[in-house]
Amino acid sequence: MTKKIAVLAGDGIGPEIVAEAVKILERLKQDGLKIELEYGLIGGAAYDETGTPLPEETLRISRQADGILLGAVGGYKWESLDISVRPEKGLLGIRSALNLFANLRPAILYPQLADASTLKKEVVAGLDLMIVRELTGGIYFGQPRGVRTLENGEKEGFNTLVYRESEVNRIGKVAFDIAQKRQGRLCSVDKANVLECTELWRETMTSLSNDYSDVELSHMYVDNAAMQLVRAPKQFDVMVTTNMFGDILSDCASMLTGSIGMLPSASLDENGKGMYEPIHGSAPDIAGQNIANPLATILSVAMMLRYTLDQAEMADRIEKAVSTVLDQNFRTADIYSEGMTKIGTAEMGDAVVAAL
Ligand code: NAD
Repeated sequence: MTKKIAVLAGDGIGPEIVAEAVKILERLKQDGLKIELEYGLIGGAAYDETGTPLPEETLRISRQADGILLGAVGGYKWESLDISVRPEKGLLGIRSALNLFANLRPAILYPQLADASTLKKEVVAGLDLMIVRELTGGIYFGQPRGVRTLENGEKEGFNTLVYRESEVNRIGKVAFDIAQKRQGRLCSVDKANVLECTELWRETMTSLSNDYSDVELSHMYVDNAAMQLVRAPKQFDVMVTTNMFGDILSDCASMLTGSIGMLPSASLDENGKGMYEPIHGSAPDIAGQNIANPLATILSVAMMLRYTLDQAEMADRIEKAVSTVLDQNFRTADIYSEGMTKIGTAEMGDAVVAAL
């Protein structure tokens, strides 16, 4: 059966990197992948055209699709807009409208890029870590929120960290299931010593572990986890954490691998439908110059094939093709080092297609 893929390129480098990912999908169609692409607007590009960062039409296309491929949103141009219509609202909006509560962020260091990491080679060589971040709850969505003026005239900003047991349970299950298929070690990250909400998080994860006797559960405070990620990242197999802690820790983990331009992500709902996107943003500083690294987006396509389209073999092929291209010493500027061949965004996409 033909599967529908919604393609939402977004802003900044979004259209450039998504174009390369689409080249991969088009190539795989020749090998029998049955997909149909439908394009939609999101972010600043959508705001410019329709007055909202998440038009109804985009939601319609995305709801009907089996999988969604997203570039990135945001940019200087829209920074002064009211927060309710900023590009980032489009992203938070689609995640929440489609109930994409489980964000999978692998951090894998390709051996060819060990020198691109700012950490010592021996600390990162062989790194293969999966961060599972809760994506539709926590402080980014909690109510009440806002800025109010106190009686003495001073302004006060406030947000609410809130998690229900059921929310912790469902993200916990995703993380335990993934740990079962990997090395069987899960580290739950919280701040249970200070925040009651994450004390409940810890208790819930501990109860859940009774159903997973083959997974070894450990707990870590987020400040220590940040330190351990930089000190000895290979101690981790799978990490599971809240929306905000996951946001920060996964960016930190991305740098262990050399470049934010290498890391894909998947955001899944309860039925395995997913949105796939690079973990980086729209990089307005390098947009339109054909220098962005498209590999994170291309690897996001591999995740889509694995988790939503049930095409693990094709996913493997993409990942191998990326490795081949790195073996051929092709590098975009962000992962370039002396002696390598520097190429642009479009050329990197072509090289992966050729390697496929
Ligand atoms: P960013 O990830 O866009 O960029 C951070 C740095 O990494 C920049 O120097 C950029 O040039 C570089 N970089 C990012 N992706 C790259 C790639 N593929 N190849 C080479 N270099 C790359 O983060 P930022 O600068 O903090 O944010 C820029 C905009 O993106 C903001 O508007 C922000 O809100 C938005 N943003 C969007 C998403 C998303 O769409 N998922 C995520 C994060 C930030």
